[in-house]
Amino acid sequence: MTDSPQLVRHALIFAEDVGRMAVWLVLLVAIFVPLEKLFALHPAKIWRKQVGIDLGWYFINSLVPAAIMAVPLAFLARVLHGVDPGGLYSAVAAWPFWLKFPLVFLINDFGVYWAHRAAHVIPFLWRFHAVHHSAEHLDWLVNTRAHPFDLIFTRLAGLGLVYLCGLASATGSYLDPNVALVSIIGTIWSFFIHANVRCRLGPLEWLISTPAFHHWHHTNDEHRDRNFAAIFPLYDRVFGTAWLPRHWPPVYGTDTKVSHTLTGQLLDPLMPGDPPKP
Ligand SMILES: [Zn+2]
Ligand SMILES: [Zn+2]
Repeated sequence: MTDSPQLVRHALIFAEDVGRMAVWLVLLVAIFVPLEKLFALHPAKIWRKQVGIDLGWYFINSLVPAAIMAVPLAFLARVLHGVDPGGLYSAVAAWPFWLKFPLVFLINDFGVYWAHRAAHVIPFLWRFHAVHHSAEHLDWLVNTRAHPFDLIFTRLAGLGLVYLCGLASATGSYLDPNVALVSIIGTIWSFFIHANVRCRLGPLEWLISTPAFHHWHHTNDEHRDRNFAAIFPLYDRVFGTAWLPRHWPPVYGTDTKVSHTLTGQLLDPLMPGDPPKP
């Protein structure tokens, strides 16, 4: 049985985590609210419909997926500890930061690309991923609207591949510096590409994902199921799923029925029954 001092300790750690997320939220608001005001793509209000739900998702997804993912990633690191296929892992471990860091980004995004693409094709995965596509207006906060199972699946595909390639140290710790850095930069970039900003980067848009690139991923017209990469559009180019015209999507969302409440979005995908069609 857990004794009271331990319970208090867990409660304090939880309160500290929530406090840290609140501080991050203030920083994100300070960056994105003025940015969306100055460069608005579509007229929008800060207190729009479902903002409360997305704030709920912000706290859930800041805490739950990382805590759950730590278990399989620590297990993978433990399995790989001491393994060195053909001397590959020790060779990779000796590579300098400037080489390993971009490779971690590239390999992670390769895993994310295929996991994300699978989530659009496999009905069981789509029932979770549809929550993210239920937004009919995009802004930075929509980034947080995702089912934890969906996030865990996609992130594990990316980071698992990074560990398997020997690009993260197999010490049993989730916080490999490269993994931590990729996760932080990737998360901030993810907020940006959802933002309601009229921002085009010319030829750079084929090198790095942008709001236009990801907004087209959220389109609900005949061009849906494109632009799966989180960071590098290169993967969509290579695998034939890129779509980036000069104009913006006419309509966002999905035809799949998704609840308008936080508990519905969290629990509905877990219920038995026919999964909704992708
Ligand atoms: Zn998607
Ligand atoms: Zn999105």
